[in-house]
Amino acid sequence: MKLAIVGSGYVGLVTGACFADSGNDVICVDNNKRKIEMLKDNRIPIFEPGLRDIVERNAKEGRLKFTESLEEGVKNSLVIFIAVGTPSDIDGSADLSSVLKVASDIALCMNGYKILVVKSTVPVGTCEKVREIVKSKTKIDFDVVSNPEFLKEGAAIDDFVKPDRVVVGTDNVRTAEIMKELYSPFVRTGNPIIIMDQKSSELTKYASNGLLATKISFMNEMARLCEKVGANVDMVRMGMGSDSRIGYQFLFPGAGFGGSCFPKDVRAMVSIGKQQGVNTKVLEAVNIVNEDQKKVLPNKLKIYFNNNLKGKKIAIWGLAFKPKTDDIREAPSLVLIDELLKMGAKVTVYDPEANQNCKGIFKDKIEYAENNYDALRDAEALVVVTEWSQFRRPDFDRMKNLMKENVIFDGRNIYNPIEMKEMGFTYFSIGRP
Ligand code: NAD
Repeated sequence: MKLAIVGSGYVGLVTGACFADSGNDVICVDNNKRKIEMLKDNRIPIFEPGLRDIVERNAKEGRLKFTESLEEGVKNSLVIFIAVGTPSDIDGSADLSSVLKVASDIALCMNGYKILVVKSTVPVGTCEKVREIVKSKTKIDFDVVSNPEFLKEGAAIDDFVKPDRVVVGTDNVRTAEIMKELYSPFVRTGNPIIIMDQKSSELTKYASNGLLATKISFMNEMARLCEKVGANVDMVRMGMGSDSRIGYQFLFPGAGFGGSCFPKDVRAMVSIGKQQGVNTKVLEAVNIVNEDQKKVLPNKLKIYFNNNLKGKKIAIWGLAFKPKTDDIREAPSLVLIDELLKMGAKVTVYDPEANQNCKGIFKDKIEYAENNYDALRDAEALVVVTEWSQFRRPDFDRMKNLMKENVIFDGRNIYNPIEMKEMGFTYFSIGRP
């Protein structure tokens, strides 16, 4: 099938690469000149495990192309995916300007029947808006389909080629069949392609992210309770997760959730609720709890250092909002660095993939280490913010030799409190004695 993917970011590039890898002819479009130049030059603008190989192979074999020209993408494709960003507007609602602009631009260069697939996460009614915009600009026949994406950064390829389910919102039987054909290589083990009406499809994505974010905020609240009453959140989590109605997933407390999806999607849902006169109290609380949680690590440091961090050297391991990505959008590390700088601390950071993105924000206000041990030189405390696997079993003796004080604040509970004490560290974690 001939496809165009408009927006070559975390979702668009993975989508394009995986569809090309299953034999389709794919053109990835982006209006970011630098991105397209990099991709044409065989360089991948983001870090996503496994993506480089797939992009390289399919580009070499001519199934995957890159262009800045939307017209080129549209004219050469039957199905056009819209995968541009839908960031939060000032009032928390989803900013649809990119989606609607792309829809309008597609209409102006259509040369025959097209299927426009909205893959971006969008509020209910957006596909309808896309339809109206395109219809107002062209007489050529087209269909609009909702097809929200559920991939996780860090495991995006696997999620895309082995989806738990594919959700397709359309009431057009012919379009549904084309979407089923497109996704059929990825659901050979019987995972469902769920065809539903467009509004339900649009809401399914928000509802899924809303529930996952709720689980995290719930556990963060439990962790805070645990600290006060002297319980251990690890034990509570095990006890809860073994209940088959609850399950173990998404029950890990931490430094707060970040990323380009959960915070903005929860805000967007609250905003949809307001517009519709539905009080979304649970969702409002989810983001409030999360904002508070991002302050937990800086507050623990404040208490430990008696409110005096001026001139203290603090090392941070992990900047990305989760391991195996370079994405730092709304990451808890950003709040921590901000707070530490406000208190006059000297901050040195290390992340295996996200140092460069962090430089874009904090410039030379902080130092960027070449590796995790270099970050520790003369540090008076280490804060672990992202649970990259290379941080899980470090050389603790080497760490002690490098650090000025053996103090660790573990925002992801990756170390054992008893072992840390035995090794002579002053150790703080989340929700554990
Ligand atoms: P992104 O910021 O990484 O990528 C968006 C891309 O669109 C950018 O490269 C940008 O240059 C491009 N773009 C913007 N306007 C354009 C235009 N007019 N023409 C061509 N290109 C344009 O965003 P993302 O993380 O890939 O997210 C895209 C959408 O997918 C969002 O709605 C997001 O909520 C949703 N989503 C994201 C994830 C995730 O894990 N990142 C998962 C599921 C769904």
